[in-house]
Amino acid sequence: MAPTTSTDFGFESLPWEEKTSRVRGVFNSVAGRYDIMNDLMSGGLHRLWKAAFMTWLRPRVDMHLLDLAGGTGDIAFRFLAGGGGGVTVTDINQEMLFVGKSRAKGRRIDGNIEWLCANGECLPVPDASVDAVTCAFGIRNMTDKPRALAEMRRVLKPGGRFLCLEFSQLALPGLKGLYDKYSFQVLPRLGRLVADDEASYRYLAESIRTFPDQDTFAAMIADAGLDKVSYRNLSGGVAAMHSAWRI
Ligand code: SAM
Repeated sequence: MAPTTSTDFGFESLPWEEKTSRVRGVFNSVAGRYDIMNDLMSGGLHRLWKAAFMTWLRPRVDMHLLDLAGGTGDIAFRFLAGGGGGVTVTDINQEMLFVGKSRAKGRRIDGNIEWLCANGECLPVPDASVDAVTCAFGIRNMTDKPRALAEMRRVLKPGGRFLCLEFSQLALPGLKGLYDKYSFQVLPRLGRLVADDEASYRYLAESIRTFPDQDTFAAMIADAGLDKVSYRNLSGGVAAMHSAWRI
């Protein structure tokens, strides 16, 4: 898809070429408090979602995973703990990777993980070289999502698995009022108190609202050339997992 001249940054519209550096700024700012904020703002729910994500992936010792937008390493750690072979964690943000590397050292699993600072829209990874690609809460932040999906397909071996975990659209409309109140009132305040950064957590709430719904995202995955696309909602659609295969 040819880039348009403007794109969204939450509810803000900004020039296409500025989004990546704005997103980088968000994660530079929150990296040191990212993990504790995840626990606090989700009440620990993100752990259950990531566990369900691993259950669906079914790691194997002969599987090499590329975890795109892997940040501080949660998915990589779970993949290895679940019996996976090796992982390459890629992320555009050095600060997030730095936190991830020191967490891996603390767990003594740093030898099984390669950390690669790269933009997911242009991966320095050979064609057809990995068995699975995961992306958890990352694609929503990318500027050119179709291009990132095409990259994920390109690096997958034929027969390889794509799995994405992302915030999504509520499947239970009755929860909308409460969810909006939490997202736009509680979340930014929590961000200010814990991470000294209200704006980044306002961006989080807004970016979730502008991200495509489950069916639209499934169609984008199919448009990127991946097959057998399916999805499962988590917590009534607060998040969703999308699965697909490179045939
Ligand atoms: N996957 C991790 C997890 O589940 O905890 C981290 C998710 S965090 C919400 C989003 C991550 O996406 C950040 O680490 C950010 O730096 C990364 N990111 C944003 N845009 C990116 C891009 N264009 N390419 C690669 N990573 C990107």
